[in-house]
Order: sequence, then C-alpha cells, then structure tokens
Amino acid sequence: MTDVRHAARNGDVSFWWNQLGRPVPRAPLAGSTRADVVIVGAGYTGLWTAYYLKKAAPQLRIVVRATEGFTAGLRGLHRTSLPMNSSLIATEPLAASVWASIGWSGRETLGDMVHAYMYAQRTSDDRIAIGGRGVPYRFGSKTDADGQTPQATVDALRDILVSFFPATKSARIDHAWSGVLGVPRDWAATVGLDPQTGLAWAGGYVGTGVATTNLAGRTLTGI
Ligand SMILES: Cc1cc2nc3c(=O)[nH]c(=O)nc-3n(C[C@H](O)[C@H](O)[C@H](O)COP(=O)(O)OP(=O)(O)OC[C@H]3O[C@@H](n4cnc5c(N)ncnc54)[C@H](O)[C@@H]3O)c2cc1C
Repeated sequence: MTDVRHAARNGDVSFWWNQLGRPVPRAPLAGSTRADVVIVGAGYTGLWTAYYLKKAAPQLRIVVRATEGFTAGLRGLHRTSLPMNSSLIATEPLAASVWASIGWSGRETLGDMVHAYMYAQRTSDDRIAIGGRGVPYRFGSKTDADGQTPQATVDALRDILVSFFPATKSARIDHAWSGVLGVPRDWAATVGLDPQTGLAWAGGYVGTGVATTNLAGRTLTGI
C-alpha cells in the first residue's frame, strides 16, 4: 500500500491545473452591475456558453445555470441532480525502463467500463494519471470541498493501476485529488430554456463533460 501522506499533494485542484500554475484571483466587483446574460457557474459549461454567446453578440436577457454537481445545494433544486464524487491519482514520472516494459508510446487515453470502472492517460511528463469512482456518494448530497482523497481510494486506484501495469508496482504516488460530478435521475445530459422566466440550464454529464460542455454551450447559444 502507498501512503499518500508521503506524496507531494493530496487534495486541492487537479494535477493538470496545478502543473499549469494557479491564476491570481480577480478582485471582487466594486459594486452592483448589469448584464444581458448572467451565467451562474464558471466551469466548462458556463465558460463555453459565455464564449459562444459573446461571439454571437446576442441582445438577450437570460440567466444560465451551469452548476452541475453543485445543483443540489440550490434552493428548490435539491432533487434535480445527484452530486457524485470522482477521484484521480498521478504517479511520479516513470523511468524509461518502466515505459519500455509498458509500451504505450502513442499516449492513447484508455478506460475500462467494468463495475469499478477506470480511465487513465500517460501525461506529458511521463506519469500515469488514473481515475475512477472512489467514494461516489456522500450522504445528504454533500459535495467535495477541498479535493482531499481518502487513503482507501488512493489504494484502490493504485491496485487497479498495478493490475493493468505490473511494472508500476513500486511507483510513488505524487498527487491525489477529487471533484464533483452531476448525475440526473435519467443519466442523460440536457440543455433547456424556460422562455417564461428566461432561465436556461445545461448539465448532467455524469462525469463525461469535457467535450459535451462545448456542445451544450453551442446549443444554448442557438436556442
Ligand atoms: C476527478 C474528475 C475527473 C474527471 N474526468 C473527466 C474526463 O476524463 N473526461 C470528461 O469528459 N469529464 C471528466 N470529468 C467530468 C467533467 O469534469 C465535468 O463533466 C465537467 O467539469 C462539467 O462542467 P460544468 O461546467 O458543467 O460543471 P463544473 O465544472 O462542475 O462547474 C460548475 C461550476 O459552478 C460553480 N458553482 C456551483 N454553485 C454555484 C453557485 N451557487 N454560484 C456560483 N457558482 C457556482 C462551481 O464552483 C463550478 O466552478 C471529471 C470530473 C472529475 C471530478
């Protein structure tokens, strides 16, 4: 078992975001402001929607709710979407001898959709990042706040890693982190607009939103 307490990092933002460097937070607004479109939730969905709306320069008075796994915390929307937790670990950069044994020279992303499913990739600096469901649901629709990942989850992901790639048996785990996904009752992502209220929404990607959020942003811009 690998004790993540000896690892470089457990929690906070993802390995990739940390590697890019954290932006300096912007100063808060000096006072109230007016806008044609208000987007609540500046994740992928919110940012793609803002990007496409800005390109289309619409004369709209619309609020977009793009709060995904955090939706259950909003008044009146407690049953709309179940917050689920997802976790990842990243190894140390692996030695050339380990890569010679593994192969994976094309750096394809891979996944296995068995019950305790996993997905993995070889990072640009030659680590393996591997994720899956660690502690999927937190009682009372609680959401992850700081990305801290339980040791049992780190161990479970590491066991899967070693079962796929025995050459990683002695690889150190350098980073573990977690985040929140939104899961609607029918497991189907949706985009919608209530013309009466001008309230639009998009989400429910069940953990596969990186590409789908772009489609959602373009769809919202078109309706
Ligand atoms: C560990 C992990 C690994 C993942 N791996 C993959 C992957 O490999 N491939 C893939 O396709 N997807 C993956 N996903 C899923 C993907 O990250 C999500 O589907 C995607 O981020 C959804 O984008 P979003 O903008 O809708 O929601 P989010 O990215 O969750 O953004 C929602 C935003 O709303 C903000 N917010 C919430 N409530 C409020 C409020 N009241 N007021 C203002 N702001 C609010 C939040 O702070 C957040 O910034 C992964 C998710 C996790 C957690």
